[in-house]
Amino acid sequence: MGSQLHVFFFPFMAHGHMIPTLDMAKQFASRGVKTTIITTPFNAPIFTKSIQTTKNLGTQISIRVIEFPAVEVGLPEGCENVDQLHSEDMHANFFKAVTMLQEPLEHVLEEGRPDCLVADIFFPWATDVASKFNIPRLIFHGSGFFGLCAPEHLRLYKPHKNVSSDSEPFIVPNLPHEVKLTRMQLGDFDKEDIETDFTRFLDKARESEMKSFGVVVNSFYELEPAYADHYSRVLGRKAWHIGPLSLCNRQVEDKAQRGKETSIDKRECLKWLDSKTPNSIVYLCFGTVANFAAPQLYEIAMGIEASGQQFIWVVRGAKNEDNNENWLPEGFEERMKGKGLIIRGWAPQVLILDHDAVGGFVTHCGWNSTLEGVSAGVPMVTWPLFAEQFFNEKLVTEILRIGVGVGAQQWKIVASDGVKRDAIEKAVKEIMAGEEAEERRRRARTLKEMAWKAVEEGGSSYTDLNALIKELSAHRS
Ligand code: UDP
Repeated sequence: MGSQLHVFFFPFMAHGHMIPTLDMAKQFASRGVKTTIITTPFNAPIFTKSIQTTKNLGTQISIRVIEFPAVEVGLPEGCENVDQLHSEDMHANFFKAVTMLQEPLEHVLEEGRPDCLVADIFFPWATDVASKFNIPRLIFHGSGFFGLCAPEHLRLYKPHKNVSSDSEPFIVPNLPHEVKLTRMQLGDFDKEDIETDFTRFLDKARESEMKSFGVVVNSFYELEPAYADHYSRVLGRKAWHIGPLSLCNRQVEDKAQRGKETSIDKRECLKWLDSKTPNSIVYLCFGTVANFAAPQLYEIAMGIEASGQQFIWVVRGAKNEDNNENWLPEGFEERMKGKGLIIRGWAPQVLILDHDAVGGFVTHCGWNSTLEGVSAGVPMVTWPLFAEQFFNEKLVTEILRIGVGVGAQQWKIVASDGVKRDAIEKAVKEIMAGEEAEERRRRARTLKEMAWKAVEEGGSSYTDLNALIKELSAHRS
């Protein structure tokens, strides 16, 4: 056994999990821990460039590739990431393939003999695998404390059973704040009692969490203290808060290299932003999983134009089946020249959010985006779509009070046309200008300062990561 602690990280194959896991590995590596990230061939390039930069800094981080059985489960070759799935069948097959990764993971552990395995919640069997090798397994969910506590209370108390319609609000009981939702805002697996492969999978994930060494959370204590405490004291989980993880990316290069290759040159993007006055740009981006149908994209274009605000709008999968872009209103880009920038594909999100010119963020409330918005001190328009995003919206708009909801009502992965242009126009105007907007902005700035303090030496996240590393070292000996 070497003297240096060696930790393996095994992220789920979705950008919202891979990106923060890479940042997490960098944080561990910066404290002298040897780190290895396990991933699949087609996901490997997402890590390599960024790792190279980090390696140059003299830290220890490497990747280990295992095969992903895409073809075996009926997926096209190379389909190894959630952002490539566009039907329920594909999702089901993807999870089948994920289950088959248990054996290759065992091989890798056998070979590498690490001291700890940090594995995603979506690998329920990883706790047993780790115990075979007599090492602790840590869980990474990708959500914040609020997004961990609130869905758990939904599961425990089933308040949605006591309402007579899908649109009647109910309160999620026994949380530190009053949190109201409707059945429309829940996924089928949350609101129906029917057992499916996916609900069984989630049950296993929960079991594996209870048996694990603990949970690492990408959040900081000061952001959601009541929920960090609730998670450990009431829900009984052992957890370490070590975020915001994205703040380990200090250089332009690091910020621009997160995730996929950007569809816009970073210099061009910065030049465009540099030409704008502070807080004058709205940034719109909806993560890496949600899809927007043409009518909804059209409503966004109309809404943003009507708001009169300047913007950067990230559109993934911008072309329709006919390979054209008829979702854009006629003459839109001509009219918006100099005023608005559409990025088709992948944007350097953190680089953009951190720029002074950006004064508002229209987000789907994925936890990474939410926390990146917080870390940049930018008020948000919340437009949740699925997963725990409707909960995150409540945190942003009602608890932290740094956002305005666009009025999304329905849980969905494909946004069809549910949110109309007027609602978009109104919400965007509301976060960008006016007295309340200024107050929101002030609160957002305070949170940004707290976020930075948390990761500085002596801060809450800095200290918790040290405590975790110490505990892992002690466990080893
Ligand atoms: N992201 C990015 N550029 C894009 C789209 C997304 O850098 O064009 C990053 C974003 O900064 C965040 C992650 O991808 O770190 C998305 O994670 P999130 O939890 O917000 O949403 P998800 O994709 O999981 O729905």
